[in-house]
Amino acid sequence: MSQPAELQYHRERLFIGGEWRPSTSRDTITVISPFSEQPVGRAPDTSPADIDAAVAAARQALTASSWASWDTETRAAAIDRFADALERRADDTARMVTAENGMPIWGSSAVEGPDPARVLRHFAQLARTTPQEERRPAASGTGTTLVRREPVGVVAAIVPWNYPQSLAIFKIAPALAAGCTVVVKPAPETVLDAFQFADAAQEAGLPAGVVNIVTGGRDIGAYLVSHPGVDKVAFTGSTEAGRAIGEACGRLLRPVTLELGGKSAAIVLDDADLGRTVEGLTWVCLAYSGQTCYSNTRILAPRSRYTEVVDAVADLAASLEIGDPFDPTTQIGPLASSRQRDRVESYIAAGRAGGARLVTGGRRPAAFGQGWFIEPTVFADLDNSHAVAREEIFGPVLAVIPYADLDEAVTIANDSPFGLAGTVWTSDEEKGIEVARRVRTGTMGVNFYDIDLGAPFGGTKASGLGRELGPEGLAAYVEYKSVYLGR
Ligand code: NAD
Repeated sequence: MSQPAELQYHRERLFIGGEWRPSTSRDTITVISPFSEQPVGRAPDTSPADIDAAVAAARQALTASSWASWDTETRAAAIDRFADALERRADDTARMVTAENGMPIWGSSAVEGPDPARVLRHFAQLARTTPQEERRPAASGTGTTLVRREPVGVVAAIVPWNYPQSLAIFKIAPALAAGCTVVVKPAPETVLDAFQFADAAQEAGLPAGVVNIVTGGRDIGAYLVSHPGVDKVAFTGSTEAGRAIGEACGRLLRPVTLELGGKSAAIVLDDADLGRTVEGLTWVCLAYSGQTCYSNTRILAPRSRYTEVVDAVADLAASLEIGDPFDPTTQIGPLASSRQRDRVESYIAAGRAGGARLVTGGRRPAAFGQGWFIEPTVFADLDNSHAVAREEIFGPVLAVIPYADLDEAVTIANDSPFGLAGTVWTSDEEKGIEVARRVRTGTMGVNFYDIDLGAPFGGTKASGLGRELGPEGLAAYVEYKSVYLGR
């Protein structure tokens, strides 16, 4: 597989109200390959007038097409057709994501290509099995209440560049299943693959305006979030942007789901099988070069086995194949942007300056004349107060931190502004579950970690508000109405 030709993914229009419309902005967004540093495609930028049009189209679709009041089976069947249309594009989508953000092709083929269809089918099924109305005997003992699940309305879905397809569909799928309509704004770094949703929506015959794709950066995102025609906001990205969006939604009393950053801990217990642990840690810590919200970038090791764990993690980091993201043997590709590499390098410098021991990595690999590469990097001999142990770096930088006993391990894991994920590595699963219960995060894994589409995903503390996926994820797009009936 080779890098696609320059500008292969050129798009000229926005997708609004079921039509390809020219943008009223004169600007364009150019997507640059993190590997070749050459343009891979362009898309029009979006103006506030285009956002007005997209929100109006989404509002119109709620009422005119009566999407919101379609019977559940008809809507679920349409969502399944949308899934089929995205599945037909899966290989192309995976290549597009790799071209845009440098994710190794094996990763984008395993996740970004197939996820949209998987997630849509999951929510189509949930739509079928979740009653739109139920009658409950009133708690007072007299009368009945009809409890209705109504779609919350027009959803603004704001998506980052790291898993642009998965994180978009985590919002689009429950929104559609609940009967909402969506305006999707991808990140400028990965604006091109978002139009796959538009092509597939057309092919699947979704009513005009149910899915709208706009472009733009932070300012246009902020405009969309505060738009008077939007009923709910769903966001994944940085904690800083999440706070700004949360503030805007708080002012407007607008429901919001925020899936933000993390600094998750992998707790290695003293009984762990180190071979299996390190194998498992590879992708829990370093998937997509650590540019993954749930990355376990703090590894907590018992003092009794500290040197052993540091050496094993360092050997792992040094052994990973760095290279062209389109080469199927590549495990670590470039970072998504030069800005991202600058950020990671500043943390590596801070780690050194703060007295942490650099065990491996820390440099730009010598083999490449171009591309925003950085070696997988491991720091040891630091405590949890160090900047590299506290802040979300969003790169392949791991901190191995010692602990004295289980209580201290849990204290260190919880001593974080974030609370998204974590893992426990042990030969005793029950003990692992016991530790998992004590860690204050939205998700944990024991000797394993993988997002389950059927279970709520999200974070506590600075990792966000609300949950995506599973029935809880569907509920985030539902407004409940109670109709009190007499005796
Ligand atoms: P970001 O959070 O600024 O951007 C993510 C998305 O939100 C983009 O579509 C962007 O245009 C939009 N956006 C930004 N500010 C907004 C606002 N005020 N209102 C509405 N929309 C807004 O992320 P970034 O600048 O691409 O990356 C910066 C850092 O964020 C990274 O280094 C990383 O630490 C973190 N990040 C985390 C995740 C995650 O999955 N948790 C994803 C991407 C980035």
